[in-house]
Amino acid sequence: MNNRKKILITGVTGFIGTNLVKELLSRGHKVVGIDNFYASSRERLQLFADEENFRFLEADIRNPLEIEGEIDQIYNLACPASPPVYQKEPLYTLETNIMGMKNVLELAEEKGAKVLQASTSEVYGDPKKHPQKETYWGNVNPVGPRSCYDEGKRAAETFCLEYFNRGVDVRVARIFNTYGPYMSPDDGRVVTNFITQALNDEDLTIYGDGEQTRSFCFVDDLVRGLVKFMNYEGELFGPLNLGNPVEYTILELADKVLALLPESSSELTYEPLPEDDPQKRRPDISRAKQKLSWQPEVGLEEGLKKTLQYIKYKCSE
Ligand code: UDP
Repeated sequence: MNNRKKILITGVTGFIGTNLVKELLSRGHKVVGIDNFYASSRERLQLFADEENFRFLEADIRNPLEIEGEIDQIYNLACPASPPVYQKEPLYTLETNIMGMKNVLELAEEKGAKVLQASTSEVYGDPKKHPQKETYWGNVNPVGPRSCYDEGKRAAETFCLEYFNRGVDVRVARIFNTYGPYMSPDDGRVVTNFITQALNDEDLTIYGDGEQTRSFCFVDDLVRGLVKFMNYEGELFGPLNLGNPVEYTILELADKVLALLPESSSELTYEPLPEDDPQKRRPDISRAKQKLSWQPEVGLEEGLKKTLQYIKYKCSE
């Protein structure tokens, strides 16, 4: 294969990393994966144990990265993304986003590699504009429990811009809520919480009144978008929103999950809304549609069924 690339993925054993590496290996690329297992498990590596095109390095991107050989592309996915996980050690999250980003960009500059940065819809904070376009500057609390993630990702985008201005080919994807196989069942996010609770006949925990909204993208759609973005010919800094534009309230999501498990005796229970929890979130994906001819294809029901299958299997192991 003459267009085989050498690709580095940071955060390779995480949820999106695992799905991405599977896709890139299936396309015949060589992948070097980095992780420090902060929010993932070493066991994940067993999936790739027989892959001759996969190499793993245990490393923390907060430290300068030394990688031998050529690298064509770098996907920077390293950072916990679940609110309870990234809030556990806020300084770790902030440093991973900021120092990690700088180290990744330095490596890209040294190797002449392209970089795709996994940014986030959290750069819009609790948005005052709806749906969110990339031109919106956001509404972020700089001194709240989510700031370590939100401001870290915002500063990372600024790092990307300044290295782009120095000649590094950087692309910034703002990823909206994503779900699917290889999410850790206990990672604390809403889709995994609801599925795990429904499987265990526990009541589904609705934070606040459940009227807040999110737009859920199935991971296969997201991975397709990330790869298209990385391989777009020519410069395209973005930022580009990647997400599913169909919006649901959290109560609607709970109904969908319960409908998939009619034998479950779970009901709903209400808990306080976490501080600074965004009230609404929906991506405007016109830019990604126009530039990449990309849009999600998997609906919430189909995606939830696949996620449920995976979580059932994980919980039975
Ligand atoms: N949420 C909920 N119950 C849960 C977990 C989350 O009602 O068990 C809500 C949470 O308050 C938020 C939405 O679901 O409004 C999405 O939360 P998640 O942690 O998945 O991601 P976020 O989009 O907030 O980063």
